[in-house]
Amino acid sequence: MNKSINVTEIYGSNVFNDSVMRERLPKKIYEELKKTIENGEVLNSSVAEAVATAMKDWAIEKGATHYTHWFQPLTGITAEKHDSFISPLGNGKVIMEFKGKELIKGEPDASSFPSGGLRATFEARGYTAWDCTSPAFLKEDAGGITLCIPTVFCSYTGEALDKKTPVLRSMEAINKQALRILKLFDDTETTKVTTCVGAEQEYFLIDAKDYKKREDLIFTGRTLFGAAPPKGQELDDQYFGTLRDRVAAFMHELNIELWKLGISAKTQHNEAAPAQHELAPIFDNTNIATDHNQLIMEEMKKIAAHHNFACLLHEKPFAGVNGSGKHNNWSLSTNSGRNLLDPGKKPHENKEFLLFLVAVIEAVDRHADLLRLSAANPGNDHRLGANEAPPAIISIYLGEQLEYILNDIENGQTITSSENVNMAIGVSTLPIFKKDTADRNRTSPFAFTGNKFEFRMVPSSASIGAPNFVLNTAVAEVLEEYATQLENTENFEEALDKLLTKAVKEHKKVIFSGNGYSDEWVKEAEERGLPNIANMVDATEAYLKDENIALFEKFGVLTRDECLARAEVKYEKYGKVINIEARTMLDMAKKQIKPAVMKYAGKVAASIKSLEDIGIDSSVQRELLEKITFNLKAMDSKINELEAAVDKAKYMDDMVERAKYYNKTVFAIMSELRKPADELELLVDKDMWPFPTYADILFYI
Ligand code: ADP
Ligand code: MG
Repeated sequence: MNKSINVTEIYGSNVFNDSVMRERLPKKIYEELKKTIENGEVLNSSVAEAVATAMKDWAIEKGATHYTHWFQPLTGITAEKHDSFISPLGNGKVIMEFKGKELIKGEPDASSFPSGGLRATFEARGYTAWDCTSPAFLKEDAGGITLCIPTVFCSYTGEALDKKTPVLRSMEAINKQALRILKLFDDTETTKVTTCVGAEQEYFLIDAKDYKKREDLIFTGRTLFGAAPPKGQELDDQYFGTLRDRVAAFMHELNIELWKLGISAKTQHNEAAPAQHELAPIFDNTNIATDHNQLIMEEMKKIAAHHNFACLLHEKPFAGVNGSGKHNNWSLSTNSGRNLLDPGKKPHENKEFLLFLVAVIEAVDRHADLLRLSAANPGNDHRLGANEAPPAIISIYLGEQLEYILNDIENGQTITSSENVNMAIGVSTLPIFKKDTADRNRTSPFAFTGNKFEFRMVPSSASIGAPNFVLNTAVAEVLEEYATQLENTENFEEALDKLLTKAVKEHKKVIFSGNGYSDEWVKEAEERGLPNIANMVDATEAYLKDENIALFEKFGVLTRDECLARAEVKYEKYGKVINIEARTMLDMAKKQIKPAVMKYAGKVAASIKSLEDIGIDSSVQRELLEKITFNLKAMDSKINELEAAVDKAKYMDDMVERAKYYNKTVFAIMSELRKPADELELLVDKDMWPFPTYADILFYI
């Protein structure tokens, strides 16, 4: 591979970005479009017409033959329906055409996407509508080059059927409320506040050859069987380790493809678990970051295949080994260039910062159930609240300095915080730098890290849409209340101090700096009254609560029907995923593990017989065969139990009841079936085991 590439040249080369638009659109059109993008003004059809033509010309020059409305249905992955640009002329020839109305609106057949009952079956139509705030881009693959137009996806009656629409709505909501606050601080410059996100993406890379031999990975994305390997991650020798060549080649190609898409892939390193890695782009506005994260996941899967890898995005592909997540780094920034979560040099005097900080704390405490819901998917149940996982309790880590400040605020004292101190490493040749105001606490699900909050519960395979629209809406609500209380007060300073003191008093219970993975914390959190919602099915209830629906309705982010529909989609999805997992397990247990074990048992039995025929001690073989038989019987009885449970679920009509049954019963039997099967893996001749083991997969790339 040619490694000398000109990054600045390829960066964004597949994006119809601002500089391309400035260059290719008539000045007036460009300015009109910018008004829509920046101020949300309605787009008129002549602008759309001109943009469509320029976009098409640009795409065709770059080799595109097709265009697609690219959208993010509730499946959590992206969807596209390709149309070619050709338009017949009637003389056997064609021209390449793309009209404004094709840019603005599409009508994919929506019936194959989940709608949670929003789209009655007789009216299967759904619409996609151009989201001009996220730039169009070109996708290159074996099928050619396609112009992709980011769109929202909604029903015939206008209800959101996707992940993007509520993100856009929530960004408008928080913008409006944050501007009210800034006005109180005499900020006359800022006209727009945007939430920004940098989503660190964790993933596993394994050999495609192993992947193809494991039905569980193919059908469910995770291993359903597998004994622990002799070496795990206990030596921590993988974290930040040197990248192996093959992995490095994958990352190199991935970076190039992402750079072409204007995605600023910046850091990459090995993660804690063997075969686990991470990629972080530089943060961007939430809508674009959400789109980019989808593209990152798609590109990872695609490019892995080029290098004979399989990329696993599942939250817990291997039991007993670190899981994968996404760290959703979130902040508020103004179009006047300020980060509202930047504490500055003297955070204790920075009242504006303290207001936004306290607002986030209050929002997170009030809506912990919604945040937990936003991070719920079947895979994350293994990462949160399960056996080897940290508890699913939402708490905030602030760091010592900010905790002191909040303490002072709570007690109504003048704040006397120290400034940042220099970091002493003890080597005089090293540069001196300031210590971060917040140290790291890796066990916290929601940590303040210097000038942003890092929500770390987010599942690795899911869209970051939900965590962000929940966070944006929750913070918008608190800002709205603060603004209402502070506007028209006689003495702003005094009113603000009072407000902050009250908020800290009421919501400090969500702040926790200890070990979030400890059992003591589970107890303490319960005493503090913090919710601990262990699984996706229980988490989904948050969508059905009146106060949560009222929150989303108040800020125009989701209607009641949209909330109920999203709950329905989650319940359905949970049942479907567990059903697939259970059936895959049954298939592997019955058709792969059992036959292999029986074959081996037969061999051992034969050897016992021949040893005894010649009068030699066969006690070792007997003991082995007994152990094998014991586990085989245990496995067999669990196979029967699981089959009966899966069958029973089929006849349950009530969606919630069915999801609960899958969670409490089917899922529990699956773990019980796994135990004897994993024992058998340790007893049976390695050459006869029917699929690659954890050690094969994780340590032999
Ligand atoms: P970590 O040490 O947690 O792995 P990284 O530096 O790898 O941190 O990633 C941090 C992420 O946070 C990056 O995506 C970065 O762009 C993003 N980030 C940095 N500053 C901000 C900010 N102000 N708002 C949102 N995200 C930010
Ligand atoms: Mg991080």
